[in-house]
Amino acid sequence: MCSIFKSTSGLQSVSEREAMFYSPFKGMLRCELCSHRCPIPEGKVGICGVRQNRKNKLYALSYGKPAAIAVDPIEKKPLFHFYPGTGVLSFGGVGCNFRCQHCQNWDISQADLSFSYLKHVPPENIPALAKKYGAKGVAWTYNEPTIWYEYTYDSSKLVKREGMYSVYVTNGYMEEEPMKELRKYVDAMNIDVKAFTEEFYRKIVGAKLQPVLDHVVAAKELGYHVELTYLIIPGQNDDPGEIERFSRWVAEYVGTETPVHFSRFHPDYRMTNVRPTPYTTMMKAYETAKKEGLEYVYLGNMITDKENTYCPECGELLIERQGFSITKYNIKKGKCPKCGHRIHGVGL
Ligand code: SF4
Repeated sequence: MCSIFKSTSGLQSVSEREAMFYSPFKGMLRCELCSHRCPIPEGKVGICGVRQNRKNKLYALSYGKPAAIAVDPIEKKPLFHFYPGTGVLSFGGVGCNFRCQHCQNWDISQADLSFSYLKHVPPENIPALAKKYGAKGVAWTYNEPTIWYEYTYDSSKLVKREGMYSVYVTNGYMEEEPMKELRKYVDAMNIDVKAFTEEFYRKIVGAKLQPVLDHVVAAKELGYHVELTYLIIPGQNDDPGEIERFSRWVAEYVGTETPVHFSRFHPDYRMTNVRPTPYTTMMKAYETAKKEGLEYVYLGNMITDKENTYCPECGELLIERQGFSITKYNIKKGKCPKCGHRIHGVGL
């Protein structure tokens, strides 16, 4: 990601904000924002490293302190059925509530507040900044946005007031109450389902699968526009039966219209000993998901025509993409121009 801002400045002037969603618990505080539900003793922080118990109040320490800012195509999130072709001002902070061994943004997700390149961007500056760079909305991305919830919440509220959208790119570990509250201001989520076994989540991620699945279903019920990403890692989560069970679950509990992005693994962070995902594995996943009835399946991080959108009814090419660029757009008022089928999404 390339940054709009080159220098650090003014961190001393950023005020921390009291956290939302916590309660007293056995002489400590319990953070109720994500499914870890950390009990936090006085002076300590939770698993994410950015929420601290100080004198019986929980504070959001990274509030207003992004570590990375860039304008990206919305396709990069990836969101393919949400205002396609628009630019989105993207923010990432430090810390994470997961410990993925293959993290592709580990330089910020595993950093703490001593990170040298933190900026100072108060929420009230964000709508104007988005407009200045020609963005149609704001994305909370790069690291896990849930952990600086208050910053994303306050900022998205102002962004919405200016008629722009906000999106989350998330690991899906937020609890249901915060999700409900956030829905007032955040419109869409790309949610990672990192595998379809508890074992993978326990060993590779340091979390549990079931809360993620519950989160996906809740997000859909709450009216977020939802797209899913499944990064296929050789030998870890690429078993054909696992991909089949995942696809069947999406069809049954989330809806066949839900866009699913299978993403190709590249070695990174603590998983540099695993080779990139073979092309044949990616193609097999695509075919499996289609066989289970999913209407919009995409392959990412590779060159393929499987990043195009086709009409699920008549097969007409609707959006042709090359990487994150749209090279042909063929949807008319949200419908296929050939057969009139309504295409799932927002802003099509
Ligand atoms: S957001 Fe952070 S402090 Fe709160 S429960 Fe999750 S990991 Fe723990």
